[in-house]
Amino acid sequence: MNFEEVRKIDEESFMPTYGRFPVALCSGHGAVAVDTEGRDYIDFTSGIGVNSLGYSDPKWAQAVAKQAASLQHVSNLYYNPTAVKLAKTLCEASGFSRVFLGNSGAEANECAIKLARKYAAETKGATCDKIVTLVNSFHGRTVTTLAATGQEVFHQYFLPLTEGFAYAEPTMESVTAKTDEHTCAVMIEYVQGEGGVLPLDPAFVKALGEYCREKDILLIADEVQTGVGRTGSLYCWEQYGVKPDILTSAKGLGGGLPIGACLCTERLSQVMGKSMHGSTFGANPVVCAGAQEVLDRVNTPAFLETVREKGAYLRAKLEAIPQIEEVRGMGMMLGAVLQKGTAAEAASACVKNGLLVLTAKTVLRFLPPLTITQEEIDKGVERLEKTLAEL
Ligand SMILES: *Cc1c(COP(=O)(O)O)cnc(C)c1O
Repeated sequence: MNFEEVRKIDEESFMPTYGRFPVALCSGHGAVAVDTEGRDYIDFTSGIGVNSLGYSDPKWAQAVAKQAASLQHVSNLYYNPTAVKLAKTLCEASGFSRVFLGNSGAEANECAIKLARKYAAETKGATCDKIVTLVNSFHGRTVTTLAATGQEVFHQYFLPLTEGFAYAEPTMESVTAKTDEHTCAVMIEYVQGEGGVLPLDPAFVKALGEYCREKDILLIADEVQTGVGRTGSLYCWEQYGVKPDILTSAKGLGGGLPIGACLCTERLSQVMGKSMHGSTFGANPVVCAGAQEVLDRVNTPAFLETVREKGAYLRAKLEAIPQIEEVRGMGMMLGAVLQKGTAAEAASACVKNGLLVLTAKTVLRFLPPLTITQEEIDKGVERLEKTLAEL
Protein backbone atom coordinates (compact mmCIF):
# COMPACT_ATOMS: atom_id res chain seq x y z
CA MET A 1 0.00 0.00 0.00
CA ASN A 2 1.23 3.47 -0.76
CA PHE A 3 0.59 6.43 1.52
CA GLU A 4 -2.59 7.64 -0.21
CA GLU A 5 -4.11 4.15 -0.03
CA VAL A 6 -3.30 3.91 3.65
CA ARG A 7 -4.71 7.36 4.37
CA LYS A 8 -7.95 6.62 2.51
CA ILE A 9 -8.65 3.40 4.41
CA ASP A 10 -7.64 5.03 7.68
CA GLU A 11 -10.10 7.86 7.14
CA GLU A 12 -12.90 5.50 6.16
CA SER A 13 -12.34 2.96 8.92
CA PHE A 14 -11.09 4.49 12.16
CA MET A 15 -12.96 6.74 14.51
CA PRO A 16 -11.25 10.02 13.75
CA THR A 17 -9.62 10.33 17.18
CA TYR A 18 -6.13 11.17 15.93
CA GLY A 19 -4.67 14.06 14.00
CA ARG A 20 -1.91 12.29 12.12
CA PHE A 21 1.17 13.53 10.31
CA PRO A 22 0.95 12.68 6.58
CA VAL A 23 3.28 9.70 6.80
CA ALA A 24 2.66 5.96 6.99
CA LEU A 25 5.49 4.19 8.81
CA CYS A 26 6.01 0.55 7.99
CA SER A 27 9.43 -0.52 9.20
CA GLY A 28 12.32 0.64 11.28
CA HIS A 29 15.74 -0.11 12.63
CA GLY A 30 17.31 1.44 15.71
CA ALA A 31 16.20 5.07 15.81
CA VAL A 32 15.35 5.18 12.10
CA ALA A 33 11.80 4.66 10.83
CA VAL A 34 10.95 4.05 7.17
CA ASP A 35 7.68 5.04 5.48
CA THR A 36 5.67 3.46 2.68
CA GLU A 37 7.45 5.63 0.11
CA GLY A 38 10.87 4.45 1.29
CA ARG A 39 11.80 7.71 3.04
CA ASP A 40 13.68 7.47 6.34
CA TYR A 41 13.11 9.44 9.53
CA ILE A 42 15.27 9.92 12.59
CA ASP A 43 12.88 9.08 15.40
CA PHE A 44 13.07 11.30 18.48
CA THR A 45 9.70 9.95 19.71
CA SER A 46 10.09 6.16 20.11
CA GLY A 47 6.32 5.92 19.74
CA ILE A 48 5.73 8.27 22.71
CA GLY A 49 8.43 6.76 24.87
CA VAL A 50 7.51 3.15 24.11
CA ASN A 51 10.25 1.66 21.93
CA SER A 52 12.94 1.82 24.61
CA LEU A 53 15.30 -0.38 22.59
CA GLY A 54 14.45 1.23 19.25
CA TYR A 55 12.82 -0.42 16.26
CA SER A 56 13.20 -4.16 15.65
CA ASP A 57 15.89 -4.73 18.23
CA PRO A 58 17.11 -8.25 17.31
CA LYS A 59 17.25 -9.65 20.86
CA TRP A 60 13.91 -8.15 21.85
CA ALA A 61 12.25 -9.43 18.65
CA GLN A 62 13.75 -12.88 19.22
CA ALA A 63 12.51 -13.04 22.83
CA VAL A 64 9.00 -12.05 21.75
CA ALA A 65 8.94 -14.40 18.75
CA LYS A 66 10.21 -17.33 20.81
CA GLN A 67 7.51 -16.84 23.44
CA ALA A 68 4.79 -16.39 20.79
CA ALA A 69 5.83 -19.65 19.18
CA SER A 70 5.64 -21.63 22.42
CA LEU A 71 2.76 -20.15 24.45
CA GLN A 72 1.11 -16.88 23.51
CA HIS A 73 -1.40 -16.54 26.32
CA VAL A 74 -2.67 -18.21 29.45
CA SER A 75 -5.38 -16.90 31.70
CA ASN A 76 -4.51 -15.70 35.16
CA LEU A 77 -6.17 -18.87 36.49
CA TYR A 78 -2.82 -20.58 35.93
CA TYR A 79 0.78 -19.89 36.86
CA ASN A 80 3.25 -18.96 34.18
CA PRO A 81 7.07 -18.98 34.38
CA THR A 82 7.64 -16.08 31.97
CA ALA A 83 5.22 -13.86 33.89
CA VAL A 84 6.62 -14.66 37.33
CA LYS A 85 10.15 -14.05 36.10
CA LEU A 86 9.18 -10.57 34.94
CA ALA A 87 7.25 -9.80 38.14
CA LYS A 88 10.26 -10.78 40.27
CA THR A 89 12.70 -8.83 38.09
CA LEU A 90 10.49 -5.74 38.12
CA CYS A 91 9.97 -5.81 41.90
CA GLU A 92 13.66 -6.35 42.61
CA ALA A 93 14.85 -3.78 40.09
CA SER A 94 12.45 -1.08 41.23
CA GLY A 95 12.71 -1.75 44.98
CA PHE A 96 9.00 -2.47 45.38
CA SER A 97 7.37 -5.45 46.98
CA ARG A 98 4.49 -6.47 44.72
CA VAL A 99 3.20 -5.77 41.25
CA PHE A 100 -0.07 -6.02 39.36
CA LEU A 101 0.29 -6.29 35.59
CA GLY A 102 -2.22 -4.82 33.15
CA ASN A 103 -2.06 -3.51 29.62
CA SER A 104 -1.64 0.26 29.65
CA GLY A 105 -0.72 3.30 31.64
CA ALA A 106 -4.33 4.20 32.34
CA GLU A 107 -5.00 0.71 33.68
CA ALA A 108 -1.93 0.82 35.88
CA ASN A 109 -3.25 4.08 37.33
CA GLU A 110 -6.73 2.58 37.77
CA CYS A 111 -5.13 -0.15 39.87
CA ALA A 112 -3.20 2.46 41.89
CA ILE A 113 -6.41 4.39 42.59
CA LYS A 114 -8.32 1.27 43.63
CA LEU A 115 -5.45 0.18 45.84
CA ALA A 116 -5.22 3.57 47.56
CA ARG A 117 -8.96 3.71 48.17
CA LYS A 118 -9.11 0.20 49.53
CA TYR A 119 -6.17 0.77 51.86
CA ALA A 120 -7.72 3.97 53.19
CA ALA A 121 -11.18 2.41 53.54
CA GLU A 122 -9.69 -0.34 55.69
CA THR A 123 -7.39 1.82 57.78
CA LYS A 124 -9.18 5.17 57.98
CA GLY A 125 -12.79 4.49 57.06
CA ALA A 126 -15.00 4.37 53.99
CA THR A 127 -15.19 8.15 53.54
CA CYS A 128 -11.44 8.51 53.12
CA ASP A 129 -11.54 8.25 49.36
CA LYS A 130 -10.32 11.55 47.95
CA ILE A 131 -7.23 11.76 45.76
CA VAL A 132 -5.33 14.97 45.13
CA THR A 133 -3.57 15.24 41.77
CA LEU A 134 -1.71 18.15 40.24
CA VAL A 135 -2.93 20.84 37.93
CA ASN A 136 -1.66 20.19 34.39
CA SER A 137 -1.17 16.47 35.04
CA PHE A 138 -2.02 13.63 32.67
CA HIS A 139 -3.00 10.21 33.97
CA GLY A 140 -4.89 8.52 31.13
CA ARG A 141 -8.11 8.37 29.13
CA THR A 142 -10.42 6.10 31.09
CA VAL A 143 -13.24 7.86 32.91
CA THR A 144 -11.42 7.62 36.23
CA THR A 145 -7.95 8.52 34.99
CA LEU A 146 -9.48 11.46 33.13
CA ALA A 147 -10.92 12.54 36.48
CA ALA A 148 -7.39 12.25 37.88
CA THR A 149 -6.04 14.36 35.02
CA GLY A 150 -5.82 17.98 36.15
CA GLN A 151 -6.59 19.53 32.77
CA GLU A 152 -10.14 20.54 32.01
CA VAL A 153 -9.77 20.22 28.21
CA PHE A 154 -9.72 16.45 28.65
CA HIS A 155 -12.90 16.44 30.74
CA GLN A 156 -15.37 18.12 28.42
CA TYR A 157 -18.06 15.90 26.84
CA PHE A 158 -17.42 13.04 29.24
CA LEU A 159 -19.06 14.25 32.42
CA PRO A 160 -19.87 13.05 34.96
CA LEU A 161 -16.43 11.69 35.74
CA THR A 162 -15.50 9.55 38.73
CA GLU A 163 -15.91 11.56 41.92
CA GLY A 164 -13.29 12.23 44.53
CA PHE A 165 -10.49 14.09 42.76
CA ALA A 166 -9.12 17.52 43.59
CA TYR A 167 -6.36 19.38 41.77
CA ALA A 168 -3.53 21.21 43.48
CA GLU A 169 -0.79 23.46 42.17
CA PRO A 170 2.67 21.95 42.73
CA THR A 171 3.20 23.89 45.96
CA MET A 172 2.74 22.77 49.56
CA GLU A 173 0.33 25.66 50.21
CA SER A 174 -1.94 24.38 47.48
CA VAL A 175 -1.58 20.69 48.39
CA THR A 176 -2.33 21.30 52.07
CA ALA A 177 -5.32 23.46 51.11
CA LYS A 178 -6.72 20.66 48.92
CA THR A 179 -6.16 17.79 51.37
CA ASP A 180 -8.28 16.99 54.40
CA GLU A 181 -9.22 13.98 56.54
CA HIS A 182 -10.94 12.43 53.50
CA THR A 183 -7.77 12.40 51.41
CA CYS A 184 -6.32 8.94 50.83
CA ALA A 185 -3.60 9.75 48.30
CA VAL A 186 -1.67 12.36 46.39
CA MET A 187 -0.72 11.42 42.84
CA ILE A 188 2.14 13.05 40.94
CA GLU A 189 4.32 12.80 37.86
CA TYR A 190 7.91 13.74 38.82
CA VAL A 191 8.18 15.23 35.35
CA GLN A 192 4.85 16.19 33.81
CA GLY A 193 5.09 14.80 30.30
CA GLU A 194 1.93 15.67 28.40
CA GLY A 195 1.70 18.83 30.52
CA GLY A 196 4.79 20.25 28.79
CA VAL A 197 7.87 18.38 30.11
CA LEU A 198 7.83 20.10 33.49
CA PRO A 199 9.99 18.58 36.24
CA LEU A 200 8.62 19.12 39.74
CA ASP A 201 10.71 21.22 42.12
CA PRO A 202 12.80 18.78 44.23
CA ALA A 203 12.09 20.81 47.39
CA PHE A 204 8.34 20.49 46.76
CA VAL A 205 8.61 16.74 46.22
CA LYS A 206 10.63 16.36 49.41
CA ALA A 207 8.14 18.37 51.45
CA LEU A 208 5.25 16.47 49.86
CA GLY A 209 6.83 13.14 50.77
CA GLU A 210 7.20 14.21 54.40
CA TYR A 211 3.67 15.60 54.55
CA CYS A 212 2.18 12.40 53.14
CA ARG A 213 4.14 10.26 55.57
CA GLU A 214 3.00 12.38 58.55
CA LYS A 215 -0.66 12.23 57.54
CA ASP A 216 -0.60 8.61 56.36
CA ILE A 217 -1.64 9.81 52.91
CA LEU A 218 -0.32 7.52 50.18
CA LEU A 219 2.01 8.97 47.59
CA ILE A 220 1.28 7.61 44.13
CA ALA A 221 3.88 8.25 41.43
CA ASP A 222 2.70 8.00 37.85
CA GLU A 223 5.95 6.97 36.16
CA VAL A 224 4.18 5.79 33.02
CA GLN A 225 6.31 8.19 30.96
CA THR A 226 9.31 8.82 33.26
CA GLY A 227 9.96 5.16 34.07
CA VAL A 228 12.23 2.42 32.71
CA GLY A 229 15.38 4.50 32.33
CA ARG A 230 13.77 7.40 30.50
CA THR A 231 15.07 10.09 32.86
CA GLY A 232 18.46 8.46 33.48
CA SER A 233 17.61 6.27 36.47
CA LEU A 234 15.46 3.14 36.29
CA TYR A 235 12.65 5.16 37.89
CA CYS A 236 12.66 8.91 38.27
CA TRP A 237 11.89 8.88 42.03
CA GLU A 238 15.44 7.64 42.65
CA GLN A 239 16.78 11.03 41.53
CA TYR A 240 14.27 12.93 43.69
CA GLY A 241 15.02 10.70 46.67
CA VAL A 242 11.33 10.47 47.57
CA LYS A 243 10.01 6.94 47.19
CA PRO A 244 6.29 6.66 46.51
CA ASP A 245 4.04 4.07 48.16
CA ILE A 246 2.60 3.14 44.78
CA LEU A 247 4.35 3.48 41.42
CA THR A 248 2.87 2.98 37.97
CA SER A 249 4.91 2.10 34.89
CA ALA A 250 3.88 1.44 31.30
CA LYS A 251 5.02 3.10 28.05
CA GLY A 252 8.69 2.06 27.81
CA LEU A 253 8.34 -1.11 29.87
CA GLY A 254 7.29 -3.47 27.08
CA GLY A 255 9.68 -2.10 24.47
CA GLY A 256 6.73 -1.81 22.07
CA LEU A 257 4.15 -4.19 23.47
CA PRO A 258 1.22 -3.11 25.66
CA ILE A 259 1.89 -3.44 29.36
CA GLY A 260 1.09 -1.49 32.50
CA ALA A 261 2.45 -2.22 35.96
CA CYS A 262 1.25 -1.02 39.34
CA LEU A 263 3.90 -1.55 42.01
CA CYS A 264 3.50 -1.12 45.75
CA THR A 265 5.58 -1.22 48.92
CA GLU A 266 5.51 -4.03 51.46
CA ARG A 267 2.90 -2.46 53.74
CA LEU A 268 0.42 -2.38 50.83
CA SER A 269 1.31 -5.81 49.52
CA GLN A 270 -1.80 -7.58 50.84
CA VAL A 271 -4.39 -4.85 50.22
CA MET A 272 -5.63 -6.11 46.87
CA GLY A 273 -6.92 -9.57 47.77
CA LYS A 274 -8.35 -12.38 45.68
CA SER A 275 -10.90 -11.27 43.05
CA MET A 276 -10.35 -7.59 43.94
CA HIS A 277 -8.83 -6.79 40.59
CA GLY A 278 -7.95 -8.53 37.36
CA SER A 279 -7.19 -8.26 33.67
CA THR A 280 -7.71 -10.83 30.93
CA PHE A 281 -4.54 -9.90 29.11
CA GLY A 282 -2.57 -8.85 32.17
CA ALA A 283 0.81 -10.59 32.50
CA ASN A 284 0.51 -11.94 28.97
CA PRO A 285 3.65 -14.08 28.39
CA VAL A 286 4.57 -12.56 25.01
CA VAL A 287 4.39 -9.07 26.48
CA CYS A 288 6.28 -10.21 29.57
CA ALA A 289 9.04 -11.74 27.42
CA GLY A 290 9.48 -8.37 25.67
CA ALA A 291 9.47 -6.45 28.97
CA GLN A 292 12.01 -8.92 30.42
CA GLU A 293 14.45 -8.11 27.62
CA VAL A 294 13.89 -4.38 28.16
CA LEU A 295 14.51 -4.58 31.91
CA ASP A 296 17.52 -6.89 31.59
CA ARG A 297 19.13 -4.45 29.18
CA VAL A 298 18.09 -1.12 30.68
CA ASN A 299 18.59 -1.89 34.35
CA THR A 300 22.38 -1.89 34.48
CA PRO A 301 24.48 0.97 35.84
CA ALA A 302 26.38 1.14 32.54
CA PHE A 303 23.23 1.41 30.39
CA LEU A 304 21.65 4.04 32.64
CA GLU A 305 24.91 5.99 32.50
CA THR A 306 24.65 6.06 28.69
CA VAL A 307 21.10 7.42 28.98
CA ARG A 308 22.33 10.27 31.19
CA GLU A 309 25.26 10.93 28.84
CA LYS A 310 23.18 10.89 25.67
CA GLY A 311 20.51 12.99 27.36
CA ALA A 312 23.11 15.60 28.33
CA TYR A 313 24.58 15.45 24.82
CA LEU A 314 21.21 15.98 23.13
CA ARG A 315 20.33 18.71 25.60
CA ALA A 316 23.54 20.63 24.92
CA LYS A 317 22.95 20.35 21.17
CA LEU A 318 19.38 21.61 21.53
CA GLU A 319 20.50 24.49 23.74
CA ALA A 320 22.95 25.56 21.04
CA ILE A 321 20.18 25.98 18.45
CA PRO A 322 19.45 29.73 18.13
CA GLN A 323 15.68 29.28 17.64
CA ILE A 324 15.39 27.34 20.92
CA GLU A 325 14.84 29.52 23.96
CA GLU A 326 14.89 26.96 26.76
CA VAL A 327 15.40 23.21 27.17
CA ARG A 328 13.93 21.40 30.14
CA GLY A 329 13.43 17.83 31.33
CA MET A 330 15.62 15.00 32.58
CA GLY A 331 17.72 12.36 30.85
CA MET A 332 16.18 11.51 27.49
CA MET A 333 12.85 13.19 28.27
CA LEU A 334 13.39 16.71 27.00
CA GLY A 335 11.23 19.65 25.97
CA ALA A 336 12.30 22.69 23.96
CA VAL A 337 10.60 26.07 24.15
CA LEU A 338 10.78 27.75 20.75
CA GLN A 339 11.53 31.42 20.29
CA LYS A 340 8.76 31.83 17.74
CA GLY A 341 6.10 29.80 15.96
CA THR A 342 4.13 26.95 17.47
CA ALA A 343 5.49 23.55 18.42
CA ALA A 344 2.84 21.95 16.17
CA GLU A 345 4.08 23.89 13.11
CA ALA A 346 7.67 22.97 13.90
CA ALA A 347 6.81 19.27 14.37
CA SER A 348 5.02 19.18 11.00
CA ALA A 349 7.96 20.87 9.29
CA CYS A 350 10.36 18.39 10.94
CA VAL A 351 8.48 15.46 9.40
CA LYS A 352 9.02 16.93 5.93
CA ASN A 353 12.73 17.05 6.70
CA GLY A 354 12.91 13.45 7.93
CA LEU A 355 12.64 13.93 11.68
CA LEU A 356 9.95 12.69 14.06
CA VAL A 357 9.40 14.82 17.16
CA LEU A 358 6.55 15.13 19.64
CA THR A 359 4.86 18.15 21.08
CA ALA A 360 3.52 18.70 24.59
CA LYS A 361 1.46 21.83 25.06
CA THR A 362 3.71 24.58 23.65
CA VAL A 363 7.01 22.69 23.64
CA LEU A 364 8.71 20.37 21.19
CA ARG A 365 9.18 17.10 23.05
CA PHE A 366 11.97 14.58 22.57
CA LEU A 367 11.72 10.96 23.75
CA PRO A 368 14.28 9.12 21.61
CA PRO A 369 14.82 5.39 21.97
CA LEU A 370 17.22 4.84 24.87
CA THR A 371 19.51 2.95 22.48
CA ILE A 372 19.85 5.83 20.01
CA THR A 373 23.43 6.25 18.79
CA GLN A 374 25.40 9.48 18.84
CA GLU A 375 25.38 9.48 15.02
CA GLU A 376 21.59 9.22 15.01
CA ILE A 377 21.34 12.09 17.52
CA ASP A 378 23.68 14.19 15.36
CA LYS A 379 21.70 13.45 12.21
CA GLY A 380 18.38 14.21 13.93
CA VAL A 381 19.65 17.47 15.39
CA GLU A 382 20.98 18.47 11.96
CA ARG A 383 17.51 17.96 10.51
CA LEU A 384 15.99 19.93 13.38
CA GLU A 385 18.41 22.83 12.93
CA LYS A 386 17.64 22.96 9.22
CA THR A 387 13.88 22.89 9.90
CA LEU A 388 13.90 25.61 12.55
CA ALA A 389 16.13 27.84 10.41
CA GLU A 390 13.63 27.51 7.53
CA LEU A 391 10.54 28.40 9.59
C1 LIG B 1 0.80 8.11 28.51
C2 LIG B 1 0.53 8.35 29.93
C3 LIG B 1 -0.56 7.74 30.59
C4 LIG B 1 -1.56 6.88 29.85
O1 LIG B 1 -1.00 5.72 29.35
P1 LIG B 1 -1.85 4.80 28.31
O2 LIG B 1 -0.95 3.63 28.09
O3 LIG B 1 -2.06 5.63 27.09
O4 LIG B 1 -3.11 4.46 28.98
C5 LIG B 1 -0.70 7.95 31.94
N1 LIG B 1 0.16 8.73 32.62
C6 LIG B 1 1.21 9.33 32.02
C7 LIG B 1 2.15 10.15 32.84
C8 LIG B 1 1.43 9.17 30.66
O5 LIG B 1 2.45 9.79 30.06
